[in-house]
Amino acid sequence: MPEHLFPALVTPPTKEALRFGGRGLTYPELAAVAGTLARRLEGAGRVAVWATPTIETSVAVVAALLAGTPAVPVNPKIGERELGHIIGDSEPALVLAEPGAALPGPLAELPRIDVELTGDPVEPLPEPDAEAPALIVYTSGTTGPPKGVVLPRRAVAKTLDALREAWAWTSGDVLVHGLPLFHVHGLILGILGPLRRGGTVRHLGRFSTDGVAAALASGGTMLFGVPTMYHRIAEEAGAKPELAAALRGARLLVSGSAALPVHDHERITAATGQQVVERYGMTETLMNTSVRVDGERRPGTVGVPLPGVEVRLVDESGAVLEGSDGESVGEIQVRGVNLFTEYLNRPDATAEAFADGWFRTGDMATRDADGYLKIVGRKATDLIKSGGYKIGAGEIENALLEHPGVAEAAVTGEPDPDLGERVVAWIVPDGERPSEQELADHVARLLTPHKRPRVVRYLDALPRNDMGKVLKRALDG
Ligand code: ATP
Ligand code: MG
Repeated sequence: MPEHLFPALVTPPTKEALRFGGRGLTYPELAAVAGTLARRLEGAGRVAVWATPTIETSVAVVAALLAGTPAVPVNPKIGERELGHIIGDSEPALVLAEPGAALPGPLAELPRIDVELTGDPVEPLPEPDAEAPALIVYTSGTTGPPKGVVLPRRAVAKTLDALREAWAWTSGDVLVHGLPLFHVHGLILGILGPLRRGGTVRHLGRFSTDGVAAALASGGTMLFGVPTMYHRIAEEAGAKPELAAALRGARLLVSGSAALPVHDHERITAATGQQVVERYGMTETLMNTSVRVDGERRPGTVGVPLPGVEVRLVDESGAVLEGSDGESVGEIQVRGVNLFTEYLNRPDATAEAFADGWFRTGDMATRDADGYLKIVGRKATDLIKSGGYKIGAGEIENALLEHPGVAEAAVTGEPDPDLGERVVAWIVPDGERPSEQELADHVARLLTPHKRPRVVRYLDALPRNDMGKVLKRALDG
């Protein structure tokens, strides 16, 4: 029989598994509640999960996994059009939701099971085949309409075990969690990760720096966050001694889903002595690389390939970049135990996503001599071809953020008659607005003159999605 995805639900230890505010479940309770629900789901086909940041969502997903019915987590803030697309595409047989939740349009028409936190001890169902689909997770839709990614149980298990290795993640860890539960980061890493380890999740409901401080001060050992959260921490830790002390006491702070600006890394280290560990992943690949706890923490890099993952960099001509000079930029392509099976209903997109067995991430990076990857940006939006140079947006964004008058920055390219493309900086000022000239000089001084923005546009806020990712396709002049 295949190895069970959650050994701690087969032989439950007598400790807490999940805590969401005032409500918690021990492992024996979770095994009974999710096991009972799993019996009702057996053979149902795909199930949609109304993925609010609640204990019910966690129970629903675990039950679907125990039953072998692929779960499709749905963002509860989703708009009509996107919901129609996801339901039409994934055709769930029913929806799991917390009692009392009002479901919109197409979801309200599906048969519904309310997730109750009651249940009796049951014999565990047999573990399905490792290649059977565990979840269908839609991509963030940063570069286009979200794609349904079919994730096999093998990828979930292997990625979580690779992170155990890289982060020395144990059953003793208590994860402080403030992320939504409908993407890989919040759901697979943040809920399924601790459950696979036999550890504990403490969900904050809504992220706040005070919530993080309180949870870390009372037994939390790890924090997972997206860059917008660490940005808030960077802004506040200097002035909030209890926040700084709680962070100092944590075993591990992990950032992912988008690049954490070097400036934020540095401010957090200055205030807390901690160095945030960055990891890089995608819905399609789960986790690819991470800075390791037993390795050097290097801000601005996403570390080295995880166990079971191979990474290569491929230049524009399709040639594999041999060597690691820290300069040459190539597309990250990956192969390994962490990969998805296919895009749902999109055989053409699936075929296009691979180059002789390697998944093309669309992310561009350089590699240092010791294998650390530095992401330059996405091929589609972040690589600017200007005056014969290829310029990565990320490096310029990092430089702009070091200017005291800049609160947020995004860099794009736009057509230019002389340069081919010109560098455009989108700036949210911090206080008084720095002039275009001043920002151009600042970048020219820190980096090189050809990387300076030729145009600066000022905004009140950058367009971001629920995970705090900047939506560059919404930025145009
Ligand atoms: P879509 O594929 O629908 O356009 P998306 O790519 O944003 O959306 P996800 O699968 O959620 O959807 O995100 C994966 C992407 O997030 C990666 O391809 C990469 O660009 C970015 N990313 C994740 N972690 C990091 C990181 N540590 N540093 C930089 N970028 C990261
Ligand atoms: Mg993507």
